[in-house]
Amino acid sequence: MPVSSAAASVLTGNPIVDQATKIVATLGPASSDAQVIESMIRAGLDVVRLNFSHGNAQDHIARAQRVREASRRVGREVAIMADLQGPKIRVGKFAQGKVQLREGAPFILDAARQEPGDEHAVGLDYKELPGDVKAGDVLLLNDGLIVLDVQRVAGDAVHTVVRVGGELSDNKGINKQGGGLTAAALTAKDMEDIKTAIGLEADYVAVSFPKSGTDMEMARQLCNVAAAGQRHRPGLIAKIERAEAIANLKEILLASDGIMVARGDLAVEVGHAAVPALQKRMIRLAREHDRLIITATQMMESMINNPVPTRAEVSDVANAVLDGTDAVMLSAETAAGRYPLETVQAMASVCEEAEKHMAASDHEYDGSHSHLPRIDQAIAASALHAAALVGAKAIVALTDSGSTALWMSRRRIGIPIYALTPRVTTQRKMALYRNVIPMLMDTSADRDEALRQAESCLLRHGVMSQGDIYAITCGEPMGAPGGTNMLKISRVG
Ligand code: PGA
Ligand code: MN
Repeated sequence: MPVSSAAASVLTGNPIVDQATKIVATLGPASSDAQVIESMIRAGLDVVRLNFSHGNAQDHIARAQRVREASRRVGREVAIMADLQGPKIRVGKFAQGKVQLREGAPFILDAARQEPGDEHAVGLDYKELPGDVKAGDVLLLNDGLIVLDVQRVAGDAVHTVVRVGGELSDNKGINKQGGGLTAAALTAKDMEDIKTAIGLEADYVAVSFPKSGTDMEMARQLCNVAAAGQRHRPGLIAKIERAEAIANLKEILLASDGIMVARGDLAVEVGHAAVPALQKRMIRLAREHDRLIITATQMMESMINNPVPTRAEVSDVANAVLDGTDAVMLSAETAAGRYPLETVQAMASVCEEAEKHMAASDHEYDGSHSHLPRIDQAIAASALHAAALVGAKAIVALTDSGSTALWMSRRRIGIPIYALTPRVTTQRKMALYRNVIPMLMDTSADRDEALRQAESCLLRHGVMSQGDIYAITCGEPMGAPGGTNMLKISRVG
């Protein structure tokens, strides 16, 4: 039901939030209740992440339904992102559930081992490991807390010596320093989960551990097959969390609609000290190529247990905003933490404050393209340029697919972009675009009528008042997708 007549939600609800940077929050046991979801949306949540590493299809379908209902009550559509589990590169189970590994002790990872593990050896969920490693390699277990040096590989057994010990429990993850594990990005479970994601009308699908553009093309094909017969297609987000993905960043980016700085696994593979610079590079690259960018993991980690963030976390979120990320993401903070609502509130206020203090030079759009052959892009660029020149209160884009709003939102400009679309699926997708406020409006009327409706919609929401100037773009003939070809600068009144 892509085209909705429920423009009423725009009339009655409040689609306006105060921060331009978007907030992604993961649902879990701490946040699956309808009341909690609703209050998080009111606090500024834009995108809900369903983590397919946990729970079954029914759990996700039920949560998605609660999200849609809650956003209807609030009057603001949020996007749903289905995050696929990806390959499980993990150790097996232990007889006692866990062991203590001591520095200097030998430890064997054995793909052939059937019996539960002990402090000398453990089996592997990931049977291909012996073929992926050689003497001299370094394996990182449990998010890098345990470090093993590979001594030799004998058949199915990887013999290691513990360099950094600690507690190792059932099914903990394995990373190889520098990358090089051959597991395919899309597993049989992911293929099933894509069908579930399409069934619940996910607006985005996030692919875990892609290594190449081909991995993303494969995911795209699977989505196309699962969504055959529907017009709507989810946007694809590549989670950058493998060393190989850094080497292939550009091709992965171009094969995706957006990328995620998946700092958790990425830090283990490339070393944590390399991550901040990579974050900045990924944000810049994504924006340059008209792709979306999400900054993720441990942004408000201490709020899993505390009602206020640390100073360092506040700075981390603010710096991602200043770097130009579309969205900042919460994981365990909202999925399993004690303060899901307070965390969203704190994050929203940090984003808002950071945006206020962006340097004036960050906001200038100088219209400096020397060549822009696409008509819609030339109009979008002109709208930004003209809006900056006249000091416009708002930029308004009448858009079908959202592509005009996406293009506009890739340039830094301190003027909010109101994207009015007749398609609820476009409205939801645009929830992830920085500085874009998506709204639903029937734009099938003739041009003058649509322009009048757009203005009264913005007046009704208190976005503009008498005397304000705004820039508005649309495509003629109205209602035909992909044809933004007109710009008008108007004064209210
Ligand atoms: P995850 O991905 O939370 O699914 O592991 C994000 C990350 O690795 O940072
Ligand atoms: Mn990860």
